[in-house]
Amino acid sequence: MKRRINITEVKFILTVLLCIFFISGNAFAQKNTLTKDEITSAVKEAYDKFKNVSEGKNADYIPALAEVNPNIFGISVVTAEGDVIEFGDINDMVSMQSIEKVFAMAMVIDEMGADALKEKIGVDATGMKFNAIEPIEWKKGKEMNPCVNPGALSTTSLIRGANYDEKWNNIITKYSEFAGRDLTVNQPVYESEAATNQRNQALAHLLFAYERMYYDPVQTTDIYTKACAINVNAKDLGMMAATLCNGGVNPVTGKTVVSPETVEHVLAVMVTAGLYDDSGIWLYDTGMPGKSGVGGGIIAVAPGKLGIGVISPPLDDVGNSVKAQYVIKYLSEKLGLNMYSVQPKK
Ligand code: GLN
Repeated sequence: MKRRINITEVKFILTVLLCIFFISGNAFAQKNTLTKDEITSAVKEAYDKFKNVSEGKNADYIPALAEVNPNIFGISVVTAEGDVIEFGDINDMVSMQSIEKVFAMAMVIDEMGADALKEKIGVDATGMKFNAIEPIEWKKGKEMNPCVNPGALSTTSLIRGANYDEKWNNIITKYSEFAGRDLTVNQPVYESEAATNQRNQALAHLLFAYERMYYDPVQTTDIYTKACAINVNAKDLGMMAATLCNGGVNPVTGKTVVSPETVEHVLAVMVTAGLYDDSGIWLYDTGMPGKSGVGGGIIAVAPGKLGIGVISPPLDDVGNSVKAQYVIKYLSEKLGLNMYSVQPKK
């Protein structure tokens, strides 16, 4: 005898179908609709358009950075689907410098939760130069931002590990997972900055005095300095940015590096201070979370779509790579990457 499906079963089937419809709809909304060819030609155009720009100057307050070849120019775009598009000097490496701050922050949020970062460090922009001491004094160590030195030093002091070696191993392991390969330290850059980082030591000690340094200030400054000296090429930066664009999963290795919730908060803090006191101008021009470093790299993230890594050592007065800013602004406009861009329904 044939069995008729009852009304409860019909409701159940309809609910399942609706869920499938919404989940796939959402996935579709997030999907990268740009083709590899479109991205490749935009990257090539950007390279040709800006390769002869000669504005800016290498950082020299860290002596070893003044020695880096200023002509290195590499662009890498990695999509959420794992396509890699590279152009220029893609094998040349520079030290991450402040770009590392993003990944230290990601580790702390992932391990301790979003509220812990907000309460123990802060997330508002200081609006001042990246190594300014005034915000610490004005705010008594509170409301620092992990994308500039005081907040980054506090963040580093919160990295999990019972001692220096454990903390360092956790950092290099995690950053390598973001990049999808084993990263190493540029020893001359590390030694050069370690010999000249009295200002960062002062920031760390002042934060310690305000009880906003959660591990030994001398060792914390040294771990931070070493993390800033990690070597990366443009592809590493593109891959690290793409891991953020893909909700914390490296799109090539498939490894879950941090949670999607962590990424939401990381990208928000990047928007507030990723390009230091020029973060407002940057957001206005690109509509993308970004982070620069005085080594000459900049990363930018188009959530759900792609990550960009650009290297060119000459910097502007604020400490941001001149060519990398031009390239990313161009790619944002050309490929429609501005997060706030909306097509009207009617
Ligand atoms: N290591 C550098 C410093 O602390 C990083 C600064 C930067 O890239 N803006 O001064």
